[in-house]
Amino acid sequence: MAYSQGHIVGRFAPTPSGRMHLGNVFSALISWLAVRSVGGTMVLRIEDIDPRAQDRAVADLLMADLEWLGLDWDEGPTYQSERRAVYEDALAHLSAAGLTYSCFCTRAELHAASAPHASDGTYVYQGTCRNLSPEEVARRSETRPPATRLRVPDADDPSGDVLVEDLVYGAHEEKLACDCGDFLVRRSDGVFAYQLAVVVDDGLSGVNLVVRGRDLLGSAARQTYLARLLGFEPPRYAHVPLLVAPDGRRLSKREKDLDIGALHEAGVPAERIIGTLAACVSLAQPGALALPADLIDGFSWNLIRGHRQDIVVDQSFLSDLFG
Ligand code: GLU
Repeated sequence: MAYSQGHIVGRFAPTPSGRMHLGNVFSALISWLAVRSVGGTMVLRIEDIDPRAQDRAVADLLMADLEWLGLDWDEGPTYQSERRAVYEDALAHLSAAGLTYSCFCTRAELHAASAPHASDGTYVYQGTCRNLSPEEVARRSETRPPATRLRVPDADDPSGDVLVEDLVYGAHEEKLACDCGDFLVRRSDGVFAYQLAVVVDDGLSGVNLVVRGRDLLGSAARQTYLARLLGFEPPRYAHVPLLVAPDGRRLSKREKDLDIGALHEAGVPAERIIGTLAACVSLAQPGALALPADLIDGFSWNLIRGHRQDIVVDQSFLSDLFG
């Protein structure tokens, strides 16, 4: 789809590993408001690349949750599970440029206590398989299918210093060699890595504004770098606060009593869910009922920038939510 210059294209990119939870709804709401407030286009992509998350029934429930909450979209859904060929092409392009290599490291080796850790808790790859000879690769492939990694520039090469100007959290700079190392573009089971799929999908669907939870801020530098290698203009990023329990633990899909299916069944209206979340970032008065469309006029990035701390789902949040 071709858009005119300056037209904002945002996206919802849920993984169908369960119903929408409040954290997903909050990022989706901000993404939707950012797009709708400037007359942009919203794209829906179901991130079901992992065979463990390819349940169409769950994807249908996610879409029903979005619709019930008043978060609509203009294009899609597209399903990552149907797009293997485009990821193959992107990988072939990187490999032809000599930017990939086979990696035989086991999970245990990668996550060993001695491995340096990145800011997001993942490991920094030490380049163990970076310089294997073609013979060695062929020999090892007989017993163990390799994963594929992208070779990032050496630490002294400034092309590996990537600056992301996040719309909410500001400048975030990474030196790829030190902050993540050569990263996965395809897993050893043949599944394309999240980093590759997301960049290819955002690039091909013209997405130029990515709004998502701040747990993914650490991926933005890798994705920016990869987008440029693949010939895409990297999107703007806006990471938003997470919803956390009073002990600071991130709320997740495991908190089943707070997923949208459970709230819907408990009789909590969509207006109360949206109103409660909106009040956390001063988009609505505490206790107000609101649908996303009611909040478009009041939306601004400045408001979100003023509320960068995580949102604590405490007793007062829950009493607003349950009314
Ligand atoms: N699919 C991811 C999730 O549901 C989001 C990935 C992204 O926004 O880049 O958490």
